[in-house]
Amino acid sequence: MKYLLVKSTDSEILKRAECGGAVTSLFKYLLDKKLVDGVLALKKGEDVYDGIPVFITSSDELPEVSGSLHCATINFGKIIGKYFADKKIAVPTKPCDAMAIKELAKLKQVNLDNIYMIGLNCGGTVSPITAMKMIKLFYEVNPKDVIKEEIDKGKFIIFLKDGTEKAIKIDELEERGFGRRKNCQRCEVMIPRMADIACGNWGAEKGWTFVEVCSEKGRKLIEDAEKEGYIKIKEPSKKAIEIREKIENVMIKMAKKFQKKHLEEEYPSLEEWQKYWNRCIKCYGCRDNCPLCFCVECKLEKDYMEKGKIPPNPIMFQGIRLSHVSPSCINCGQCEDACPMDIPLSYIFHRMQLRFRDTFGYIPGVDDSLPPLISELDK
Ligand code: SF4
Ligand code: SF4
Ligand code: SF4
Repeated sequence: MKYLLVKSTDSEILKRAECGGAVTSLFKYLLDKKLVDGVLALKKGEDVYDGIPVFITSSDELPEVSGSLHCATINFGKIIGKYFADKKIAVPTKPCDAMAIKELAKLKQVNLDNIYMIGLNCGGTVSPITAMKMIKLFYEVNPKDVIKEEIDKGKFIIFLKDGTEKAIKIDELEERGFGRRKNCQRCEVMIPRMADIACGNWGAEKGWTFVEVCSEKGRKLIEDAEKEGYIKIKEPSKKAIEIREKIENVMIKMAKKFQKKHLEEEYPSLEEWQKYWNRCIKCYGCRDNCPLCFCVECKLEKDYMEKGKIPPNPIMFQGIRLSHVSPSCINCGQCEDACPMDIPLSYIFHRMQLRFRDTFGYIPGVDDSLPPLISELDK
């Protein structure tokens, strides 16, 4: 049972579901049966640009956290490592969440036995600020009038409070410098196979969720939830599997194109990088937001770093972070999102990681082995 179509048996969940309601039903099963202490998920805050991480402990609270928020760019890896390492939890994971969690598990910061990763296929996320700007500029509506958004069939679609909707091709938005975050444009992991299951609508029949079972824990979860009557399952057609594969391959091809564009053709020169580093206000936001920066005693806190001194010594500051993080960088873009000075940090980390990949063949968040250098030290 590798590929399945899954549908919720709960009519209320189905009413709100984007496809078959599988994700919400599995969370409901885990909460009702007390197999987890809670579910860590995103709740819509004031508007669609505001995703708030919440830990819910009862299935009555599930309506608050169902549905995707493409303008909430939070990574759950850091949050789990910092606040939920000793809890039994379930969490919806985009590939970059699942990759961060997997890397942290290898480095003994989280325990995978305590985590159900319910993976969500991902075609990219949009920074909330970019989303508001492009909605005003290209959709010509007030961003505050948007009540829901969706990424589907290569379009960013917005639903307005007057009941209408507007859609623009993501390609067109990205040609104009808007659209998905730059790291998402380069991201080549769309299906989170490092999670316990990977869910989405690619290839799925209407009203069903396409699920790929990726671990023994995932297989047992699906089987038990079905036995207990929370979901029903059936086999997808050969055509459905092929459609999903085709979508994945097209997206990987696009990601490679963006890698070439950002990391070769448009990659800043040494002089340009120097200008970027001179802009750095040494706020430590990139370090604090990176899911893979977890040392209790950080070298960047040492006296010789002269915290807050502006401009910093880039070789010292970013050099230390690069040497610590780039081998296992998962290109999640959290460093760049946090930088108040718009320094394209993920360019340098992603490029360096790809060089490690060329040399050692190591794919962070995907491979089961430790990152290079760390694995050498471990011998
Ligand atoms: S980095 Fe990849 S997995 Fe993460 S939000 Fe962007 S496209 Fe999705
Ligand atoms: S360096 Fe940046 S892109 Fe890489 S894992 Fe850390 S936050 Fe994500
Ligand atoms: S987030 Fe930006 S400004 Fe802040 S320390 Fe990092 S590079 Fe410098």
